[in-house]
Amino acid sequence: MTIKIKCPECENEGSISLLDQEFTGPYRCWKCRALYTINIHEGEIVSIEPLSEEALEKLKQLEELKKKFMRQ
Ligand SMILES: [Zn+2]
Repeated sequence: MTIKIKCPECENEGSISLLDQEFTGPYRCWKCRALYTINIHEGEIVSIEPLSEEALEKLKQLEELKKKFMRQ
């Protein structure tokens, strides 16, 4: 399914494709490049909060760590 997301910053509408109706993760506006953490529940956007580049880097590092542990 595709979820439409309106950027709180520039009000441009973007969309993301999801495999199911639950999602929590980073979203970047294609227009103004603003970063957000979005929380989708049952196909509806529950929250959209600003996310800093720094916080995104930390998230990525966490994912990398998880992958490393999975391999062992
Ligand atoms: Zn935007």
